[in-house]
Amino acid sequence: MSLSRRSILKGAAAGAALTAAPMIMGANHGKPKVVVVGGGAGGATVARYLAKDSKGALDVTLVEPSRTYYTCFFSNLYLGGFRSLESIAHSYGKLAGDYGINVVHDWAVGVDRDKKSVALAGGASVPYDRLVLSPGIDFVDGSVPGWDISAQNHMPHAYKAGSQTELLKAQVESMREGGVFAMVAPPNPYRCPPGPYERVSMVAHVLKAKNPKAKILIFDPKKKFSKQGLFQEGWEARYPGMVDWLDAEFTGPLEEVRPDTMEVVVGGEVTKADVVNVIPAQKAGRIAELAGVTNDKGWAPVVPATMQSRMDENIHILGDASQQGDMPKSGFSANSQAKVAANAIRGALTGSKVFPAKFSNTCWSLIDTDNGVKVGAAYEATPEKIAKTSGFISQTGEDAALRKQTFEESLGWYAGITADMFG
Ligand SMILES: Cc1cc2nc3c(=O)[nH]c(=O)nc-3n(C[C@H](O)[C@H](O)[C@H](O)COP(=O)(O)OP(=O)(O)OC[C@H]3O[C@@H](n4cnc5c(N)ncnc54)[C@H](O)[C@@H]3O)c2cc1C
Repeated sequence: MSLSRRSILKGAAAGAALTAAPMIMGANHGKPKVVVVGGGAGGATVARYLAKDSKGALDVTLVEPSRTYYTCFFSNLYLGGFRSLESIAHSYGKLAGDYGINVVHDWAVGVDRDKKSVALAGGASVPYDRLVLSPGIDFVDGSVPGWDISAQNHMPHAYKAGSQTELLKAQVESMREGGVFAMVAPPNPYRCPPGPYERVSMVAHVLKAKNPKAKILIFDPKKKFSKQGLFQEGWEARYPGMVDWLDAEFTGPLEEVRPDTMEVVVGGEVTKADVVNVIPAQKAGRIAELAGVTNDKGWAPVVPATMQSRMDENIHILGDASQQGDMPKSGFSANSQAKVAANAIRGALTGSKVFPAKFSNTCWSLIDTDNGVKVGAAYEATPEKIAKTSGFISQTGEDAALRKQTFEESLGWYAGITADMFG
């Protein structure tokens, strides 16, 4: 292109910027484009809200490799025999058909922040005006010596739901009589703080019926854990003598796991187990790191009022991958953050009204049949962090009717949140 032609076009572009309605137009390509990477609790919700509320004013693309999303939430209930796998499986058909979202089943493998485009494993690249990253978690290499992703078929993590959860369930159900189930619990922060302990409850529920002499050992690097009093009360009452929670202060540190021999080495002692559930330390899903929006702890810091990256205002990060303050890494948190981000993105790209950010979360856990407990809170955005404003938690010693009611509340929540994500 000649210099004079370039300068004319440049001038025209500058003039257009002054006179056109910049809110409605995406850079050089018609409707503003929003690309969402990850079709889970955060990503599916933000894509749906953007498409639904903008009524066609935004071009929304959702990039997600899987055609079926298995919720981690309620995957423990599948382990315990309270739900089928199909009941926690969801597809993207309604997002595409009913909401006009361009659903692309592929991996995002890079982000060019200068060109504002996302590279896909299949070779295409997708331009954006705003990018939303909600890739969930990845595991920190080397955090459990002896374990890497190649060992996941011997020692499953089942911390991404689907075939891993099926494998863990099959292993638990075929344990030898009187065998040992060992869990290597993760350090903070990690996805779903009560998740490992609800899982222990569900495994205990299965073993109590099928294999009552079996033992459950939890090797935990933490000194305390979410809803500890409620879980420990429940384990003593419902599964007496079956569950031993062993913190590292008592046992000494975890030294290694040996997938070939199914051994866990802790504080110099070797424990031979029949099932070993390794839940490694976690960090933001890798695409956040590739986009250059993570910090030295592996998480992506955000501006609470909008969920924008602190490193790039054109990128929003949701859910587990974000470092936001007081909210736990949960599906409910991701869903709540997605609505705040959708509102902020529409405001920025179409000029719609932006409401003050408010967030909420509840984490439900099932201890045994009809024995549900919960912990939750409300939050608001401050300049530094998402800050807790009020909270609630189930109490020890609650009667059976209240526990049943809490469990039933969780069933309603599951139906509601999955409809909110997938339409
Ligand atoms: C056992 C267990 C029990 C749980 N129970 C509860 C509960 O009761 N309540 C609750 O609220 N939460 C619960 N959670 C936590 C909840 O599942 C997560 O916090 C939630 O899924 C986080 O949402 P997200 O959008 O950040 O990530 P996810 O829901 O994991 O979604 C991430 C998506 O991104 C996709 N992805 C990743 N990388 C790429 C890429 N490069 N390109 C394209 N796509 C990509 C993945 O395929 C995935 O579909 C539980 C978790 C576990 C493990």
